[in-house]
Amino acid sequence: MTVKVRFAPSPTGYMHVGNARTALVTWLFARKNQGIFLLRIDDTDAERSKPEYEQAIEDGLNWMGLDWDEKARQKNRDERYQEAIQKLKDDGRLYPCYETAEELALKRKTQLSRGKPPVYDRGALSLNDEQIKAYEDQGRKAHWRFKMLHDPIEWNDMVRGNVQFQGSDISDPVLIREDGSPLYHICSVIDDVDYKITHVVRGEDHVSNTAAHIQMFEALGAKPPEFAHMTLLADMDGGKLSKRLGGKSLKELREEEGLEPMALISLLAKLGSSDPIDALTDIQPAIDQFDFSKFSRNTPKFDSDELIRLNAKILQQTSYADIKDRLEELGLGDIDESFWNAVHNNLNLLIDLKEWWTVANGPVSPIIEDADYIREAAALLPAAPWDENTWSSWTTQIKEKTGRKGKELFLPLRQAITGMDHGPEMPVLLPLIGSEKVKDRLAA
Ligand code: GLU
Repeated sequence: MTVKVRFAPSPTGYMHVGNARTALVTWLFARKNQGIFLLRIDDTDAERSKPEYEQAIEDGLNWMGLDWDEKARQKNRDERYQEAIQKLKDDGRLYPCYETAEELALKRKTQLSRGKPPVYDRGALSLNDEQIKAYEDQGRKAHWRFKMLHDPIEWNDMVRGNVQFQGSDISDPVLIREDGSPLYHICSVIDDVDYKITHVVRGEDHVSNTAAHIQMFEALGAKPPEFAHMTLLADMDGGKLSKRLGGKSLKELREEEGLEPMALISLLAKLGSSDPIDALTDIQPAIDQFDFSKFSRNTPKFDSDELIRLNAKILQQTSYADIKDRLEELGLGDIDESFWNAVHNNLNLLIDLKEWWTVANGPVSPIIEDADYIREAAALLPAAPWDENTWSSWTTQIKEKTGRKGKELFLPLRQAITGMDHGPEMPVLLPLIGSEKVKDRLAA
């Protein structure tokens, strides 16, 4: 059997970290099993679906390096959906309902206040012809529900293990709107059948949908696929993912934060699994190590600080040749290899390079607390040209002359030259700044 999976985003908003994790995990499973990865655009909601969101989904996947073997969309498949729907109607598995949203809300409220689960009471099944005619005369149009069989439903989830439901605990889902258009549930099941999906990977918010979907697969004469329901990510405080980087869209992480895609992949490929989270510069190890059985059912916490740490580690491992094009996009002018090598260990995000660029090129505001010391040091500056040994020969002389050592010797120099008390190593920084600027700053 060839594994075939789908990632099925709705183009009704920008792709965020949670979707990215579902996409990544689905893709890793496909690649690990030499399977087929289908990108399915779930655009049944014509009003909320937008081309720019679909574009952002593709851009996000491309940015992460997740390629797709096939692409499908739901919009053009109405004929096929209607055919399957007709079969379900003929088989008595779809029935028309006339309740308004307000009436349904009231029913739910009453059930809850009596301590009953808010399962649809199937009132529509006992309507007689006269009542139906009366509704239609009022201009009401039917929406259609799928009639669940009141049988046990069971599957062996690749993440959650054995999952059991009772058909009677699940509300008959609405599959067709008043305007006749089919809803996500039935379109998704028909697509999974037609595209021969072998494994459905999605968030645990779909677990009870899956119980209903299994009966829909069976009603259409198809064998249900395997399922993997991923635990949803939470913020550090256990709440819904919304804060700091966890609340950003992929578009923002890419365009505004300048995040390295491999940092996100390193985190999302392992978060919630028993594997350690390491900075990966290549996705292949994540493919090789992928296994659903490693993922736990505990809610994993998304840590923005950890993402930044991974990002920093990846930048440390990135060569000038690999980052050259992105450096040009920063619009700082020509950044050469020696500058990259000097600063890349001191970046959390690529954007931080701007700070070191300013340190090298100015303007900086020198911090000078002990003006006499700085004057003495300035007088000992070696003549240009400078190289990576200049710092050591300069500070050796200062040490001999002043008797200072350690932090007392070095920190005031760094503060005067860079305007900061931390940063890239001074031996590499000094020649980048150059003798003229260093002199000016020491004389400030
Ligand atoms: N469009 C659905 C969603 O984004 C797809 C869920 C599924 O994978 O079936 O939640």
